[in-house]
Amino acid sequence: MIELKQITKRFHQKGRVTTALDQVSLTVPAGKIVGVIGASGAGKSTLIRCVNLLERPDEGEVILGGVNLMQLKPAALAKERRKIGMIFQHFNLMSSRTVSENIAFPLELDGLSKGEISTRVQELLQLVGLQDKQHQYPSNLSGGQKQRVAIARSLASNPGVLLCDEATSALDPATTASILTLLKDINRRLNLTILLITHEMDVVKSICDQVAVISEGKLIEQGTVSEIFAHP
Ligand code: ADP
Ligand code: ADP
Repeated sequence: MIELKQITKRFHQKGRVTTALDQVSLTVPAGKIVGVIGASGAGKSTLIRCVNLLERPDEGEVILGGVNLMQLKPAALAKERRKIGMIFQHFNLMSSRTVSENIAFPLELDGLSKGEISTRVQELLQLVGLQDKQHQYPSNLSGGQKQRVAIARSLASNPGVLLCDEATSALDPATTASILTLLKDINRRLNLTILLITHEMDVVKSICDQVAVISEGKLIEQGTVSEIFAHP
């Protein structure tokens, strides 16, 4: 479970202060998919980056599975971060590594043996349906295939939580649908907790259990998809 409590984040730039997040509270229950939707500049990116403390909030608490991340020392924080996977709009794959080698990267950091890594990589390739692409380089893959590699890599260390930062925004509608289907499938099969941000209404409508709407740094609505999108 992810709990954000009264998060405020300000940016100081050229003497100006931008309040990117203003007292935002959001809970993602274990095993659920929660989407945050909002316009460009609303604070979505800052919000999702606060969950793994890529951005450190000025105020508030970030609690992951009962652990308050803001109170941890660097070594303990690094350990907790291994429990959080993240995928991005532009995939962030390493171009000099093959599909398998990209997926293996976090496992190498975890210190697994060659044999363990190889077994785990095959499981992950199967999970995302890319066994036939394992020796290819990212430049030879379609956008949808690249995002599948990124998903496999993000899940390598068995995180309980996946953060999706505009993960389908660079993809066409058909590929978006196939990636969302994969995420829903993984959510069910692994009981993975997913927080995603998007500016696309269809994304939240199709896979989210709950939705929050963010505008100018404030969460202005929260509820189920049918509550938020119902028009009486
Ligand atoms: P979104 O993801 O919804 O487009 P962001 O979280 O990227 O919104 O940005 C929210 C606000 O914070 C915007 O006004 C943006 O300009 C500002 N902002 C984001 N990151 C920085 C930064 N590193 N320095 C200064 N301002 C920033
Ligand atoms: P693209 O449109 O770029 O091919 P997709 O995400 O549709 O991207 O598919 C990427 C790869 O994943 C393809 O090689 C395809 O064969 C495979 N694939 C597509 N859907 C599934 C699925 N539901 N389960 C497993 N593999 C799939």
